[in-house]
Amino acid sequence: MELLRPIPTGETKAILFDFDGTVSLLRGGWQQIMVDFMLEVLLEVAPQEDPSELSRSIEEFVTELTGKQTIYQMFHLCDEVRKRGGRPMDALSYKHRYHDRLMDAIQYRIEGLESGRYQPRDWRVRGVATFLEELQLKGIPLYLASGTDQEFVLEEARLLDVDRFFPDRIFGALDEYTQFSKKMVISRILLELELRGPEFMAFGDGYVEIRDTRRVGGIAIGVASREDGEPGWDEWKRRRLASAGADILIPDFGNALPLLGFLKRPETVSLEESQP
Ligand SMILES: [Mg+2]
Repeated sequence: MELLRPIPTGETKAILFDFDGTVSLLRGGWQQIMVDFMLEVLLEVAPQEDPSELSRSIEEFVTELTGKQTIYQMFHLCDEVRKRGGRPMDALSYKHRYHDRLMDAIQYRIEGLESGRYQPRDWRVRGVATFLEELQLKGIPLYLASGTDQEFVLEEARLLDVDRFFPDRIFGALDEYTQFSKKMVISRILLELELRGPEFMAFGDGYVEIRDTRRVGGIAIGVASREDGEPGWDEWKRRRLASAGADILIPDFGNALPLLGFLKRPETVSLEESQP
């Protein structure tokens, strides 16, 4: 665990989790599939460009937009096609084409979970279920928000047996894309629970949720997880999350239980419990 900034303790009243890369590894490897897809689209318009250079610039903007809904990455692709003098398809069609490819690549994971060949823990970020259980015991409301479409998030959370931690509090992207953003979910939580910034905490492996959390004065915990499920840091995510403003960094939840010490002052709980 890496503490980048002192944070107030004992104030946390709601916690938001990102899904892919933070809780779930089911879509692990999606970045490469998206980059390859976009590379193909752009090379069709501009076959003279150097593929490895183009690939690097795609990686750059895909990363920058990670955590936002997929459609925004596709809007950007449309811009890149236009910049090269091409006529793009509409962003939603690109999104469907990319998504079909991603699903082809990860279908064996979903089917394996459905058939029982895989256990939910095989495709969860290390230690996350135990950590969520502990948070639930503390009575802190937990929220899940993802840039992936809502129907898929619900289904994948169920397959990974983590939906039970977020009853009626799972939010994903909608076709009406202006009706959802992580920023909107965060504002709604603050408003509905009447929270001040530091009473809100979020865990995420993407730039967007870390930045949006810090903007409202919340506590942002960056999860620099390796998407191959191995323990240890993803060094690249670690640097990105630090630059996005994370207060604390963890590689996964395998050794994250000490974080619980930040959450609620034990005396608050015992005082209430010892009331006659
Ligand atoms: Mg993520």
